[in-house]
Amino acid sequence: MKKDQEPTASQTAQKNQGGAAVMQRPGHKLRSGAPVVERAALQASPPMDETPDFSQLEPGATGGGSSVPNQFSGPSFRNPRERFRFDGHKMVYHLDRVLAWQRGERFAPVHIDMGLTKFCNTACVYCYAVVQNMSRGTMIEGDALLRFIEDAGRVGVRSIGFIGDGEPTLNPAVYDAAVLARKVGVDTSMATNGLLLDMNRAHDILRDMSWIRFNLSAGSKEGFQRIHQSKGENYLALLETIRSLVAIKKQYHYPCTLGLQMVLIPENFDQILLLAEAGADVGVDYLVIKHCSDSEYGELGIDYSLYAKAEADLKRAEALSTAEYVVQAKWNKINAAGDTPIYRDGVRKYDICYGTPFLSQISGNGDVYPCGPFYGKKRFLMGNIQKESYYDIVMGDRYWAVHEDIRTWVDVHKDCAIGCRQDYLNKFLWDLKSPPEHVNFI
Ligand code: SF4
Repeated sequence: MKKDQEPTASQTAQKNQGGAAVMQRPGHKLRSGAPVVERAALQASPPMDETPDFSQLEPGATGGGSSVPNQFSGPSFRNPRERFRFDGHKMVYHLDRVLAWQRGERFAPVHIDMGLTKFCNTACVYCYAVVQNMSRGTMIEGDALLRFIEDAGRVGVRSIGFIGDGEPTLNPAVYDAAVLARKVGVDTSMATNGLLLDMNRAHDILRDMSWIRFNLSAGSKEGFQRIHQSKGENYLALLETIRSLVAIKKQYHYPCTLGLQMVLIPENFDQILLLAEAGADVGVDYLVIKHCSDSEYGELGIDYSLYAKAEADLKRAEALSTAEYVVQAKWNKINAAGDTPIYRDGVRKYDICYGTPFLSQISGNGDVYPCGPFYGKKRFLMGNIQKESYYDIVMGDRYWAVHEDIRTWVDVHKDCAIGCRQDYLNKFLWDLKSPPEHVNFI
């Protein structure tokens, strides 16, 4: 065809593989040799009368949908919504606190991890609390705990996990604390070994706690004995307790999520699949498998390079996930010896700890600290909830001076061990504080 010649009807009707008309003079040939679509010839669809149905956005939705472009038929939902976020953070849902932080205001932590006791009825071989001065019989008194819960609601804490230090169910006030927290608008959760859980309070905690996680790092009687240093029979008793809670939750439609957490160490690599199968059998909502946190002195002797040996079993365990049961490894920290969004070769991808004002930790004796690994370091002690009002602690000078001390004088690569609780937050806040050039060109 000559340069100024009009295309023939048969040439105009030429279509590409998607059914669209193609250009006759596209300028030059593409590397693929494929015809170029005549965009101007596409029919403009009239706006739809009805709003598309977005109900498929519910968890687990996966739509197929046509691959032909320019149909404008609405989202086809090919990415199931993430049900839990074990291996990341949720700071984007608390931007009001981030803005308060950027403005230099005083504000309450979004979340607190809180020990309720400083002793335990098992002796797990990986237990970090052992390096935090455990002392038999020490716990936060009931009155002080309930006063603290009221204060936490008043100052604006959004959630409290009864996690860390000793076993929370050894403090009889844990159940009333959960009930009160629901009333004052603070979400609660608990990580427990479950062996002494008071089933007479099962309805209270299933109704008022957001989630309960059982610390279980073995999937057999023998493994339980070896890892948790408790009687093998306790493994079977624990599974029955969990099974009962699952049944009550289902019968009464309680919203509480029930899960298991495995702390991964080379000694229990052989238990990964057994535990994943046991979790499916008892009917929990999830099994999360995490790295083992070590101290800054390496007292637990965790060699992160050894985690590579567990990779195949972890993937096999994750493959047991269904719509009702999620099995997930915390890869970002398990792979700290490799390259993940927060670590490279065991080194954090941020240099300053900014996260402690957002996520605080309280020891089982009531001491308030910026983070669990700093329990017992008096320089960083912010107050004690058994002696002072938590509201006054958070609004006081000492509390903010400690956060500033952390930000200014802590070398996260030297003073802190791998895998601390604030890691994900720190990376997010570090990125916020260290913008690249030209941020307006989003
Ligand atoms: S980075 Fe260090 S100071 Fe900051 S929370 Fe983690 S362990 Fe604590």
